[in-house]
Amino acid sequence: MSEYRLQQLIDGAWVPAADGGTWELVNPATESVLQPVPFGGAADASAAIDAAHRAFKSWSRLTPYERADYLMNAAAWILARVDDLARLTTEESGKPLSEAAAEWRSATNYLKWFAGEAPRSYGRSIPARVGTRRIHVQPQPLGVVGTITAWNFPVYNLVRSWAAALAAGCTVVGRPAEYTPRSAMLLAQALHDSGLPAGVLNVINGDPAAMAGVLLDDPRCRKISFTGSTRVGKLLLDGASKTVTRLALELGGNAPVLVFPDVDVAAVAREAVTWKYRNCGQVCVAPQRFFVHRQVVEEFTDHVTRLTEKVVVGSGLDAATQVGPLINARQRERVETLVREAAAAGAHVLTGGGRPEHLPRGYFYQPTVVSGLTPAMPLYQEETFGPVLPIIPFSEVDEALSIANATEYGLAAFVLTRDLNTALRVSEDLEYGMVCVNDWLPATPEAPFGGMKQSGIGRECGMEGLADYQETKTIFFGGVQ
Ligand code: NAD
Repeated sequence: MSEYRLQQLIDGAWVPAADGGTWELVNPATESVLQPVPFGGAADASAAIDAAHRAFKSWSRLTPYERADYLMNAAAWILARVDDLARLTTEESGKPLSEAAAEWRSATNYLKWFAGEAPRSYGRSIPARVGTRRIHVQPQPLGVVGTITAWNFPVYNLVRSWAAALAAGCTVVGRPAEYTPRSAMLLAQALHDSGLPAGVLNVINGDPAAMAGVLLDDPRCRKISFTGSTRVGKLLLDGASKTVTRLALELGGNAPVLVFPDVDVAAVAREAVTWKYRNCGQVCVAPQRFFVHRQVVEEFTDHVTRLTEKVVVGSGLDAATQVGPLINARQRERVETLVREAAAAGAHVLTGGGRPEHLPRGYFYQPTVVSGLTPAMPLYQEETFGPVLPIIPFSEVDEALSIANATEYGLAAFVLTRDLNTALRVSEDLEYGMVCVNDWLPATPEAPFGGMKQSGIGRECGMEGLADYQETKTIFFGGVQ
């Protein structure tokens, strides 16, 4: 795998951290060190902004068709190497190889879709109320854009903003999560090896607060696209007030799943188990809290408990594995605490609830089903980000809506029903940016992705996602004869 350049990319060169710093990257399935990777700070961020700023003028003046070629070439580069890339991603993230490969393949869809969308970024001409006047509205790229991203989707979280920003004509400084920098470096290599001009895309790795501080304080960085927790999103909002830096915030979620009594309960239980434990539950749009109608709650609970007991937990590199480890010890402790405290307060752990005995090393946690929750429990209120499936019964549609909306989060929600009226009524009244009705995946390049309330600001993907990397300029022409 020596063709892969696992370094920072600044101004077209693969470089170590300016101060020589490194970070020992750990495999969460074994707790052993994979390799040291560059881990820098403010100096690396400044150098990357310098490079991105220098590259902006010529990159933004290319036609969108020319920019699209680079994205298409990067997609082909990835598709030729999916197996290698998936292995490198699995080793650092813990996710099963099949999920890592699917993430890389899906990344190519984002590159291709934004390549196609860039030339469709039309302005408009507005009829003026004075005959000698013309008014043109023209989208223009923002300039240098910073991205700060979470480790849970180490390719997807990046490609959805990088592809949009590059297609729009922006240049990028990407700062991935310290737990999964290799996937970011590989995605950067896909674009670099496809001939992307120096400085158009830069990847730095290092101290999050120091690097974010540089991105926030430098007036040449016009936007930061952030994917991560609501806690850090709020810190960035505070920091952005100094320079009025535009922010796109893709933050946490606590997705409700509303299961109505008219469904095929066994089928919904099978789907629930598949989607709940994907990426070990570390998915911002993961189904979190299952609100199940009292008529079917017992049947649903039996099915999911039985299916959960059969889920195969292990190293993501093993073909049989369905659920890998959590990303680090801190995340596992958080999940353990949430379940332990709920149980102490009266919740019932129906299966799981501990570390798997056959896996003494690695940050593993058994897929867990919990019932008997009350709203006072943190497991009910907080984003778990782990393989825990809580079940809460409800009786009426209005009750389900009100408990589902009683949270500061508003990212994704799920509705399972065959009744058209229920589907329409509930999907309209849920205070969530994305609602899946009899569907489980609210992420695709062509559709806007983002949250309401404290789950975020702005949208990635879809035509909204491209527009979020553009300024709207209004040009007034007067004195036209
Ligand atoms: P986190 O906020 O701790 O970290 C996210 C990123 O921010 C990382 O790169 C981290 O290094 C960086 N960071 C940490 N401290 C920072 C600081 N002071 N200033 C600037 N950057 C800082 O989040 P996490 O726990 O690593 O990731 C999980 C969270 O991300 C969950 O809440 C999840 O829902 C959310 N998430 C949201 C989406 C979405 O699209 N809405 C997608 C994936 C993950």
